[in-house]
Amino acid sequence: MSQAAADATVGPATHCPYCALQCGMYVSDGEITPREDIPANAGGLCQKGWTAAELLTSPERLTTPLLHGSPVSWDDALDHVAGRIEAVRAAHGPDAVAVFGGGGLTNEKAYQLGKFARVALRTSQIDYNGRFCMSSAAAAVNRSFGMDRGLPFPITDIARADAVLFAGGNVAETMPPFVRHLTAMRSAGGRLVVVDPRRTPTAKMADLHLQVTPGTDLALALGLLHIAIADGHADLGYLAARTTGFEAVRTSVSAWWPERVERVTGVPVARMREAVRILGEAERAMVLTGRGAEQHAKGTDTVTAFVNLALTLGLPGREGSGYGCVTGQGNGQGGREHGQKADQLPGYRRIDDPAARAHVAAVWGVDPAALPGPGRSAYELLDALGTPDGPRALLLFGSNPMVSAPRAGHVARRLAALDLLVVSDFVLSETAAVADVVLPTTQWAEEYGTMTNLEGRVLLRRRAVTPPRGARTDLEILRGLAERLGCGEKFPADPRVVFDELRRASAGGVADYSGITYERIAAETGVFWPCPETAGEPHPGTPRPFLDRFATPDGRARLVPVDHRPPAEDVDEEFPLYLTTGRVLAHYQSGAQTRRIRPLAEASPEVFVELHPDLAERLGVASGDRVLVRSRRGAAEAVARVDTSIRPDTLFMPFHWEGVNRLTNAALDPSSRMPEFKVCAAALQRCEDGERREDGERVA
Ligand code: SF4
Repeated sequence: MSQAAADATVGPATHCPYCALQCGMYVSDGEITPREDIPANAGGLCQKGWTAAELLTSPERLTTPLLHGSPVSWDDALDHVAGRIEAVRAAHGPDAVAVFGGGGLTNEKAYQLGKFARVALRTSQIDYNGRFCMSSAAAAVNRSFGMDRGLPFPITDIARADAVLFAGGNVAETMPPFVRHLTAMRSAGGRLVVVDPRRTPTAKMADLHLQVTPGTDLALALGLLHIAIADGHADLGYLAARTTGFEAVRTSVSAWWPERVERVTGVPVARMREAVRILGEAERAMVLTGRGAEQHAKGTDTVTAFVNLALTLGLPGREGSGYGCVTGQGNGQGGREHGQKADQLPGYRRIDDPAARAHVAAVWGVDPAALPGPGRSAYELLDALGTPDGPRALLLFGSNPMVSAPRAGHVARRLAALDLLVVSDFVLSETAAVADVVLPTTQWAEEYGTMTNLEGRVLLRRRAVTPPRGARTDLEILRGLAERLGCGEKFPADPRVVFDELRRASAGGVADYSGITYERIAAETGVFWPCPETAGEPHPGTPRPFLDRFATPDGRARLVPVDHRPPAEDVDEEFPLYLTTGRVLAHYQSGAQTRRIRPLAEASPEVFVELHPDLAERLGVASGDRVLVRSRRGAAEAVARVDTSIRPDTLFMPFHWEGVNRLTNAALDPSSRMPEFKVCAAALQRCEDGERREDGERVA
């Protein structure tokens, strides 16, 4: 069926609003039908996708701007915001106004937000919540491959592999249609190895589960590499032809002999050897990482260690093999390419590169010298709000840091210290609820735009329903503010016009979109970047960018020596347990959307903490008990869930509810500035009557 015929019969073809798999779907009269033509899901959807339309007509939908909680007209709201911005800038300078974006925003919005910050506000203070998601993997592969594209191969390549090692990803819950690619691989005789402190649904389907102590994935990767070299699995021909740095890495991992790694990680030597044998003997093999390995204060080095393993085995840049990072947020890939990062200009260009500044400034029609330099990373930006040297006003789009930021109790106090907090959202999220101004925006199925999925495939999000009266797109909101700040003509609100400008701004950059058009995306069910514009035959796009050379100056991948170190906060007498966080099947990120969808809220109604039966017995806790989990930063109440799938020294909590991130540690990776969400020291006790805490903050 042609696209036009399909649209006419089952409704406009679009994509799910949630995760980076970006499952294709049709939306018509509130009904969702999965698309068969998008390889990532090929007719499948998860529970979140099937129910996504419910929020379009939710009674909790915002349709009127709010000023200090009271409905006002759009003109009054935008006049107020622009006036306050002008006043803050006049008093404190341009960096006193900050912008915070999101990894779920379309490419057009992410691009426009970066331009709005640099051109309309002239502020360097912009970053986004993707810093909490993808930044460690991005920093690592930029260093090793010279380019950050989550999967540098089509997702369907996974089914052709003979072995996959997946460190820190639980796709069976976070993106269930992904599982079909792993299942196809295993049905054809392939083997799956999963690294995770929990026996997750993904670990349960694996041939081998390496149940690491939280915070020790890096030591495990070093140990696997040590064994791979010792057992003769290093592909010396590939290493000589396509890489640099192997000798230094070989020397560095010699100190990580298997028994030492077993002591650090808790993974038996025999299991490590079996994992290496599975990978080393496979004709085609893949190493994948997810947030479990990446969200650490050493996440960049952890990913680097897994990349070193993949390179030593000769995998990246070979068809059917490779290293890939499984991106999380809906536009986690595109959102990190087009300028909403503190150090970045569109096309994945660096903001401190004079040539990049000159190119982008020419597209924007401004003087390169007028563009600000790099700003603060996401947590550092939130941490500086309302301080003497920090921003006094914050414009926030597509994010809910009251729930999703680490050390969230502290972040809540920083938000409260602002002179102006403006939130654009379609529901009253926890952060919108404390904003001075709330601007009601449109949702996924109500607007056009492009999203780039975890494969680097640029997809078209089509408008399937008419937005409610009163809601505006983020592009319209930015246009309205820019008009009031005297530069409205530079901020078109039509997504196609914005995309055409993005194409020009990205031309020649690492993430080159200049050869991609809405028409091509529709005709080809997505186009892989880089895709430069050409004078003759259109560029076909680049499904596998590293087949001939890596994106480094010499075309070779770099092996980089890294070393293990303990978590930023280790367990002790007062906080004797590791706490790790993650997601559940029914909810997405901060839960602002999915907690408002009835079937999802019923499936997973409240926050829980998972603990092992041995630990539960020691603490006198049973499933269903209300317990208090404490860390050095705060406390959160939860329902106990006793389960053998977790290590006896570890607690697990899903982060979709307010309170969980009051516990997490904001220690940052030195390269990526990723906070250490995945491990901190904690204590757990039964909640006796009278002990329940309202705000969860620890007083002492
Ligand atoms: Fe697909 Fe992810 Fe949406 Fe589920 S949440 S339907 S896996 S895009």
